[in-house]
Amino acid sequence: MAKRTAKVRKRKAVRSTAGFSTLDGFLKDQGKLEEFEATAIKEVLAWQIIEAMKAKNISRKGLAERMKTSRSQISRLLDPKELPADIITRLPVRYTFNSRYFSDKYEGLPLNGYAELFRKMADSANISIYLDCDYFAVREQIPADKPVVYTGPVDRFFDYRFGVLGWRMLDFEREVLDVEDYQGCAVLNYADEDVAFTRIHEFRHLHPERSYGDKTVIFREYSRLAGKADEPHYPINTVSDKRAYDTYRAAAVAWPNVVFGGRLGTYRYLDMHQAIGAALNTWAQTIGPHFREGAPLKRTAAAI
Ligand SMILES: Cc1cc2nc3c(=O)[nH]c(=O)nc-3n(C[C@H](O)[C@H](O)[C@H](O)COP(=O)(O)OP(=O)(O)OC[C@H]3O[C@@H](n4cnc5c(N)ncnc54)[C@H](O)[C@@H]3O)c2cc1C
Repeated sequence: MAKRTAKVRKRKAVRSTAGFSTLDGFLKDQGKLEEFEATAIKEVLAWQIIEAMKAKNISRKGLAERMKTSRSQISRLLDPKELPADIITRLPVRYTFNSRYFSDKYEGLPLNGYAELFRKMADSANISIYLDCDYFAVREQIPADKPVVYTGPVDRFFDYRFGVLGWRMLDFEREVLDVEDYQGCAVLNYADEDVAFTRIHEFRHLHPERSYGDKTVIFREYSRLAGKADEPHYPINTVSDKRAYDTYRAAAVAWPNVVFGGRLGTYRYLDMHQAIGAALNTWAQTIGPHFREGAPLKRTAAAI
C-alpha cells in the first residue's frame, strides 16, 4: 500500500471581529488603523494623479520632461508602494480658522535672524571659515585621523555607489514691487495646476513690528526634482530611497572619523529647531567626548 504522507495544514489564526461595530474600531484595536489609512490615502493620491494626467493627456514621458527628470523617476513617484506615508501626515489638516503651517505652541525667529546668530557664534579666533570651498576638492588634504562633520548629501559622499537618492529642491524668483504690502501674509500657497510656482513669500510679514517703507520684496517659489549638480533641499524618501539610505548608513561605518550630520547628511526632513537639536546632541554625545577624552566618534540617532 502506498504510504500516505500526512499533510498537516497550518491554519492561520483568525482574529475575531466580534464586539466591533465598525471596521475602523477593529483596525484600531489591532493597532493597524493608521497604517491602513496611510495606505488607502497613498493609493487614492496616486490614482488621482494618474487620472488627472489622463484627463490632460499628459504621458509619463511628458510629465518627466516638464519636471526635468527621467520617466523612471516619475513611475517611481506614482507607485503607491513607493509614496512615503509621511507625505500625507506632513501636511496639516485643520477644521479651524488657524492658518499657521506649524502646530507648535510657540513660534519665533532669532531677533536679528539666523545669519547674525551664526556670525556671532563663529566670531572666535579658534574658528576659521572657508567659503566657496567644496569638501570634495580638499578631502584628500584632511588628515585621516581628524574628525569631519559632513553636512552635504550622503549619496554624493559615496559617489552614488548605492544609487542616487530622491531629492526635491526649489528655485526662487525675486521681485521688488512698488507697493507697501503685496499679499498681507508671509507665505501664500498656490495649488492651482495652471500656476507654475507653488508659493509666494513676502518676508516683511515675518517682522510686522519693523518699518520697510513703500516697497516690498517677494520671492516666487518653484519646486522641482534635484539633479546631481544641485544642492538639494528636501529628501523625497520613497520606500526604495529609504532602503538605499540604509545601505549608505551601513557604509558610513567604514569612515570612523566622519560624522554625517544635518538634513542632507542624514537624509531627513528637518525643521530648524530639529536641526539645531540634532547638532547639539551630536556635540554632547559624539564630538565633545571625542575632543575631551579621545573617545571614538559614535553613530547616533541625530548623526550617523
Ligand atoms: C526653502 C526652505 C525653507 C525652509 N523653511 C523652514 C521654516 O520655515 N522653518 C523651519 O524650521 N525650517 C525651515 N527649513 C529647514 C531648515 O532650513 C533646515 O532644517 C536647516 O537649515 C538644516 O540645517 P543643516 O545644518 O542640517 O543643513 P544646511 O542648512 O543645508 O547646511 C548644510 C551646509 O553644508 C554645506 N555643504 C553641502 N555640501 C557641501 C560640500 N560638498 N562642501 C562644502 N559644504 C557643503 C551647504 O552649503 C550648507 O551650508 C527650510 C529649508 C528650506 C530649504
